[in-house]
Amino acid sequence: MSGNPLDLVVVGAGFSGLAMAIRADRAGFSRLIILEKADRIGGTWRDNTYPGAASDVPAHLYSLSFAPRSDWSRLFPRQGEIQAYLQGLVAEHGLADRLSLGTTVRGATYDEASCLWRVETDRGVIVTRVLVGAVGALHAPARPALPGLDRFAGPCFHTAEWNHGCDLTGRRVGVVGTGASAVQIVPEIAGDAAHLTLFQRSPAWILPRHDRPYGAVAKTLLGLAPLRRLYRASLFWRRELTALFGFTRVSRLTAGAESLARAHLKRTIADPDLRRRLTPSYRLGCKRVLLSDDFYPTLARPDVSLVTEAIREVTPHGVVTADGAEHPLDVLILATGFAPSGSFDRLALTGRDGRTLAQAWRKGADAFHGIAMAGFPNLFLLLGPNTGLGHNSVLAMVEAQVAHVLGGLRWLKKNPGRAVEVRAQAQSAFRASVDARLADSIWARGGCGSWYLDEKGRNRTLWPGTATAYRRGAGRLRRRDYTLVGPLQRSEAAATGP
Ligand code: NAP
Repeated sequence: MSGNPLDLVVVGAGFSGLAMAIRADRAGFSRLIILEKADRIGGTWRDNTYPGAASDVPAHLYSLSFAPRSDWSRLFPRQGEIQAYLQGLVAEHGLADRLSLGTTVRGATYDEASCLWRVETDRGVIVTRVLVGAVGALHAPARPALPGLDRFAGPCFHTAEWNHGCDLTGRRVGVVGTGASAVQIVPEIAGDAAHLTLFQRSPAWILPRHDRPYGAVAKTLLGLAPLRRLYRASLFWRRELTALFGFTRVSRLTAGAESLARAHLKRTIADPDLRRRLTPSYRLGCKRVLLSDDFYPTLARPDVSLVTEAIREVTPHGVVTADGAEHPLDVLILATGFAPSGSFDRLALTGRDGRTLAQAWRKGADAFHGIAMAGFPNLFLLLGPNTGLGHNSVLAMVEAQVAHVLGGLRWLKKNPGRAVEVRAQAQSAFRASVDARLADSIWARGGCGSWYLDEKGRNRTLWPGTATAYRRGAGRLRRRDYTLVGPLQRSEAAATGP
């Protein structure tokens, strides 16, 4: 293959892509480029600009360990502050000239003769030794299949594509969905809208959020690196303990947390009928547990209604529910989440022997530690299958994955012209151990359906343990799990490929 290949192409300039690029650059792999289809960096935090958008992991934990900030304004920072942090990373780490914004990857193909990836973009072809997919797990908005949705006459938009030109003041606004996005939006827009109707399919378990600003003293103390590290560790371990003590299973902790959530509901909602309709019938933890102090009080407002009848159809001027009731609306907001499987498919990857990712994943998304796949040498995924976390900062997973990829880059440096490929046996052993733990997990036994499960009911989204356990397994590339492949020597992987 012609051209002077890069060390590394990273696809996606969100949290994970930037972390990868910074660490690779620092480790001396500076011939790299980040391809980003949008005209700005930020990923999730660029796209989700809805009113109230904020992290539900504290900022001192939801930030990169090697790029700390001491002046976060509050425990749970808002979107703008996180986006500014990410933009700051680009400036501080000199990434601006490695960014190719407004560049869409159309596909990428592994060339066995040269052990290089050929990445086709809408602005030309790039040849690279290593390709990293950092496209985020929750990217593609899921539009619900509601009959008549396309006929709605007023503005209708998804939370991740917020229409900032649409003034909600004095209008009848409908919100479909009661997930993490909706509980942040509803308190923000109620009061502006003439009336807000929230369409709930299933209620969420909600715990108090206790958000608060950091005062001047706290900021000064957190300016001291040892204290900041201690604080970060305490935030991390508090969350790890919940997983260690059984948050990933139906356990005594489940019942305890449910009591806390019920008490929170009782404290904030006086109406017993409303309380009943807001009480989930599945176990806490089966779907993502939400944090909010103002969602329940907002639902008690006279200008807000909670509708729990199923949506029968959307008409040009509102929503009709299964009981025949008509809910007239001027604006319809879809807080209906994301299609998690769509992200990596969009990269249109073709590995060894012309095998595509879609073919490799026809039995479900599958990668060694969520990172590497047999048949796809020198390709690594960040936030790939089974690396989502319900209880802790997903950046702990990202940092372990980045360290894993760096191990691959270092090995390759010592072996010019060759590629690393995960052994099929390592990948299938990892799959078996994850599936075994998932079989007994809260997501399988908690009595709910969720986007964590694919269309066949398999959980290819979450990691079934602590972030620490993941880090121990994935945070280092162990050469015994991989094989070196090269143009002159057909690999063992080729002989044992999946
Ligand atoms: P989500 O958690 O998937 O919630 C989607 C909601 O829409 C659910 O209540 C779902 O009901 C409902 N829904 C979906 N299709 C529907 C249909 N056809 N008819 C009626 N209702 C329908 O989505 P999200 O709130 O956007 O959050 C997605 C993920 O993004 C979160 O889990 C989290 O990982 C991340 N997130 C994080 C933050 C944060 O850090 N603060 C904020 C927002 C999002 P069912 O429950 O019945 O399926």
